[in-house]
Amino acid sequence: MSQYLMPTKVITGKNCLVDNAQLFKSYGSKAMLVTGRKSAKINGAQDDVVKALESVGITWCLYDKVMSNPTVACAYEGAEMAIDEGAQFIIAIGGGSPIDGAKAMALIAADPVDQAMLFDNSRHTRAMPVIAVPTTAGTGSEVTQYSILMNDVLETKSSLATPLLFPKIAFLDPKYMMTLPVTVTINTAIDALSHSVEGMLSIRANRISDALAKESIGLVMEVLLKIQRLLKIKGDVALTYEDRDKLLLASTLGGMVIAQTGTTAVHAMGYSLTYFKDIDHGRANGLLLGHFMKLIEKTKPSLTDRVIQAMNVDTIEVYMSLMDDLLLEKETLSEEEINQFSYKAIETPNIKNCLVMPSREDLANVFTKAFK
Ligand code: NAP
Ligand code: FE
Repeated sequence: MSQYLMPTKVITGKNCLVDNAQLFKSYGSKAMLVTGRKSAKINGAQDDVVKALESVGITWCLYDKVMSNPTVACAYEGAEMAIDEGAQFIIAIGGGSPIDGAKAMALIAADPVDQAMLFDNSRHTRAMPVIAVPTTAGTGSEVTQYSILMNDVLETKSSLATPLLFPKIAFLDPKYMMTLPVTVTINTAIDALSHSVEGMLSIRANRISDALAKESIGLVMEVLLKIQRLLKIKGDVALTYEDRDKLLLASTLGGMVIAQTGTTAVHAMGYSLTYFKDIDHGRANGLLLGHFMKLIEKTKPSLTDRVIQAMNVDTIEVYMSLMDDLLLEKETLSEEEINQFSYKAIETPNIKNCLVMPSREDLANVFTKAFK
């Protein structure tokens, strides 16, 4: 038996947000916009949202302080603003950070919960509606039931996970991504790739999630290989609207995958790299994924062969050399850090999703190989 659930209405295409302004009316007469500090004001997404809301007479307030890798404190601050301002729904504009921040705010504002109980996912009963406007192509948060926050109590990133968090609508317009810097483009694309690959390596994978994953992997790899070529030939990358469209679709498909399968060891290990070493989320996944696939190949080559096929490359090594070209100089990890991070990762809920269950020593080996 298997199941597929993804209740978000997904609307795609140039100007899809302004063209569908009337949809906002179902969610109330006042919205809170949630963004990062700068990009939403520059890439046109915030202007489009304001234009759409004003065209249908909806008032709004703005919380524009979500940092990369949002904190629990940020979620509570935004929730307080939503309550104080009497907002009835939230529009999240930005990368995964503002979208995840907004989702957590939606949960806390609808049913205020003590911080100690926030990550008790079974406790949540209500959330304000969230509409998502992604401006990076990577996390797929616009179609997932997750919100990932920096959790200082456990010193890691922890997930809120409840179907209440699926956004009501995701507006996918690649035009907001035309100005995305090359490093953010690469890191976020690798995050999308990692979602789809980890989805195929998850115990919860099924035929629907695998179909979405294969399509997503093919799209991301096509554009990442183009970026690799452009960097080699020109030393610079200018992606077309069509490339951005492919990455955005791949990212949303990757989100649909992990909404079914969860993520696995790669995300579990990456959380420590972000929490303790401030390594970007997608980059962390990219540094680890090839080495984790090599580990699985040892016992279940049929599984990694399917991933390699979806990537349209001959071997895992080809994929790993692509990552070397894109991620350039690696950070360093001490023996002590490798130990600490592997113990942390093995305790995460994500590990339980692994189809081939790694040991703590396996994870330490992956860290060692990835950073040597
Ligand atoms: P991000 O932290 O949201 O954004 C990274 C940077 O890109 C920020 O500096 C941001 O600037 C900038 N930016 C965003 N859109 C831009 C645009 N169109 N043009 C120029 N700059 C732009 O990065 P992300 O990788 O998208 O999200 C990472 C977060 O998502 C992590 O916390 C991760 O754990 C989470 N995540 C969630 C899920 C899920 O299912 N919920 C899945 C995977 C990852 P501003 O700050 O100024 O906006
Ligand atoms: Fe991710």
